[in-house]
Parts: sequence; C-alpha cells; structure tokens
Amino acid sequence: MSAPVRVRFAPSPTGYLHIGGARTALLNWLWARHTGGTFVLRIEDTDRERSTDEAVRAILDGMRWLGLDWDEGPDIGGRYGPYFQMLRLDIYRAYAEQLVKAGKAYACYCTKEDLDAQREVARAEKRQFLYPGTCRDLPYDPSRRHVIRFRLPKLLEVTFTDLVKGPITRPGSTLQDEVIVRADGVPLYNFGAVVDDVTMEINLVSRGDDHVNNTAIQVLLYEALGYPVPAFAHLPMILGADKTRLSKRHGATSVTAYRDMGFLPEAVVNYLVRLGWSHGDQEIFTMGEMVKHFGYDHVGATAGVFNPDKMVWVNQTWIKSLTPAELARRAVPYYQAAGLAVEGDARLPDVAKAFQERAKTLVDLVAQSRYLFAPVEMDPKAREKFLVPDAAPVLQGIRDGLAASATVDAAGLEKLFHDVAAGRSLGLGKVAQPVRVALTGGTASPGIYDVVLLLGREESLRRLDAALALAAS
Ligand code: GLU
Repeated sequence: MSAPVRVRFAPSPTGYLHIGGARTALLNWLWARHTGGTFVLRIEDTDRERSTDEAVRAILDGMRWLGLDWDEGPDIGGRYGPYFQMLRLDIYRAYAEQLVKAGKAYACYCTKEDLDAQREVARAEKRQFLYPGTCRDLPYDPSRRHVIRFRLPKLLEVTFTDLVKGPITRPGSTLQDEVIVRADGVPLYNFGAVVDDVTMEINLVSRGDDHVNNTAIQVLLYEALGYPVPAFAHLPMILGADKTRLSKRHGATSVTAYRDMGFLPEAVVNYLVRLGWSHGDQEIFTMGEMVKHFGYDHVGATAGVFNPDKMVWVNQTWIKSLTPAELARRAVPYYQAAGLAVEGDARLPDVAKAFQERAKTLVDLVAQSRYLFAPVEMDPKAREKFLVPDAAPVLQGIRDGLAASATVDAAGLEKLFHDVAAGRSLGLGKVAQPVRVALTGGTASPGIYDVVLLLGREESLRRLDAALALAAS
C-alpha cells in the first residue's frame, strides 16, 4: 500500500486569496479528503517587503469561508494555525548547513556589484547569465558576508513526471548554482519550499503551473537532502475570456470579492472545481460529491476559461437548492450590509422562499426584496406608466376590499383581485400591475398576493393610499 497522501497549499501573503489560488487549495484539499490524507497550509512569507498581515488574514478568511480546513500546524489556542516560514528560519539554516557540510552547497561572497556587472556583460552578449561558480571552491569563512548557494551536481538533464502535464525534462545546461539562503539568513523560495516539503513529508506537490520552471532545481534539492522526490501536479492557470491569464482586468479575482457580491461558498467551490476538472457531464456538485469523485486523472492539461455567467448560474442553482430558512439565514448579513435591520423579522424565510427562484446572488436577493423592509423607492418610469388617473379606481377597489377583510390570505386576495378585474371588465394583469407598482415601486416582483402577504394588511393599505395620491396628482 502506498503512503498516506500529504499535500499542501503554500500561498505567499502578498495579496488577497486569488480565485486561482483558491482552486489550487481546493484541489489539494479534495485530494487529501478523498484519500483520507493530510492537508497542510503553509504561509510563504519570506518576501518581507511584499508580505502583509492583512493578506494573511484575507487568505485564512477565504479558506475558512470556502470550508477548506487544514489538518496540522502550530497550536494556536486549541486549533491549528498555519505554518509560517518566517517562524522556521532555524530549520532552513540547519538544512543549509547540512548541505554545506556535505559539500552540496557553499558560501558565496560575490557582491551584488560583481554580479550585476557580469549580468550586464551577458546582456550585451545576448546570452542568459548563469552564475559561473566563482566561489565554489573557496574555504568557508562565516565571518564574511555571504549567501549560500546550491552546488549543482554534474548532470545532463533533470526529468520528472507531472500528473497533469506528463514527463518534463530540463537540460542541466540551463540551471545554475542557485542562491538558497540570503545573507540575512532568509531562504529563497526554492529552498524554503523544499525544506518545508521535506520536513512536512509532502508526497504530492500540486500548485499553479507558473512554478513548473522551478521544479527541476527543486527536484535536485530534494535529492541533495536525501528525500524521495514527491509527485507533482502543475495546474494550468485560469484564463479570462480573451485567453490571457485571469487578472483584475477580467473582473473580480479575489475570493472575498465573490463573498461580498453574494455568492455562496458552495457555488464558488463548485464553479472552481469544474474549471479544468470533470466528472462526466455533471455540473453541480456538493462538497461530498467532489470529495468522492475528485482525482488528478481527470484534471485537464489545458487551462480553464473563467466564465462569470456560468458562475452566476451555478450560484443561482445553489440558491434554489437551499431551504428557505437556510437561505434566509445566509442573507441576514447582506441585509445588514445594505443597512436593513432584519434581525428577528419572522417574515425572512417566507421572503427567501418568494425570491429564491429569482435571485442570482444574496446581494441580488436583498436588492430585489428591499421594499419589504424599507420605504418604497418609486421607479419614475413605472409610476408614469401605471400610477395614472385611469388606474385609480382599480387601486381604490383593491384598497377598499383589503380594508374590509378581517384577515388576509392567498385565497381571499385571489377572489378580491378577480372581483375587481371582473367588475371593470379588465384582465387580471391590468389590476395586478398598478398594485405591484404601488407596493414595490417597480414592475417586477414575486406574485402579487405574496407581496401583499409579506407586507401585511396595514403596510399594504398605507402604500396603496400613497399610490392613490400619486395617481390623482
Ligand atoms: N508560495 C508560492 C506561491 O504563492 C507557492 C509555491 C508552491 O506551491 O510551491 O506562488
């Protein structure tokens, strides 16, 4: 039996959790859950100028919101924190020293000026600059300012097999003695990542294919450290509609932006899993189904194109699938963000039910149902067209009928609307539409009886009176 799967997601906290990063995290998480393995979260914060606490928070918030929990890490008050590379400098130093002792790495004393000058010459000669190994055989003198460089073994090429891209070969002539630890003791990405993968016993590295070019040197580093080279799965970058890499130009790219726009986390993970992975022609997946069916064998080698319309469709499908009570619960913070105090409003589940088929997002649900919790904002066009003197008798008929009835229910309303329509030889629409404008301020809403029931008799009467005044003016 093969060893239990150990995978990781290793974001650099230099910005929010990008939708592409979230997809990488999701696929790793799914594979861990599918196999009963372990999912590690590691914050690669060694770029101190670009890393921020705010970005760390955004990443953790995004992960939690999506439901991607991690299984290990330092104890932070009863739960696992992620690993932070900047808290692990001693570990990288120890591994670097081990490599130096074994002759697999060495101290390099070249100054930036030296190297810049050599780079300049290479540029003038139109060739790639590769470090020529100037310090390879100098004695180790820790008292001199130095970086640590990996001593590239003599080799013709490096080959590894990628679960998504197949076998990949890199000629040794394109590699150099990379710096692995800077003069200040902070590791460079390739070394920090490899030491972490070694100590965290990662056996599948699945990440964006923008790192595929780093993999050859990493393979050599695993080997130098005496660690079995993990499997790799490099995921194609998500593209925008114009087939360039998805970026802000294409619209929102952060996970939290989708949360704020009123997407359900279920819909976001569902949409993301389908970008470059398929299970027959199934489009809608619960987390449980994703976990059950996910495998790298069906991850495509070509990039998925981000399609905002499809993402909305997936969201809408998920909105429809929630129970009204659950949908109402999810919508509360969005009402609050829109300045509507809905806490404790017993109508919420019925509101959710009335709008469930029509709402594309939770923000849309709030916008569409706003008039149930706030004064009517009259659409001038709707008013001009429907709140006219001709409509006054109809509005009056409904108003009087409503005022006269002791209780309001759907059957009673249906009879009232039909009676008013029949009394004036009008189609039902000619009655419903002015009433709709009166009650909602616009021409689109759920069924008119539902609207009356949700507003209640008193509020409906108030709005009809206000509309009658407008129709007469
Ligand atoms: N920290 C890298 C990034 O955010 C990921 C490196 C990796 O997964 O090996 O791009």
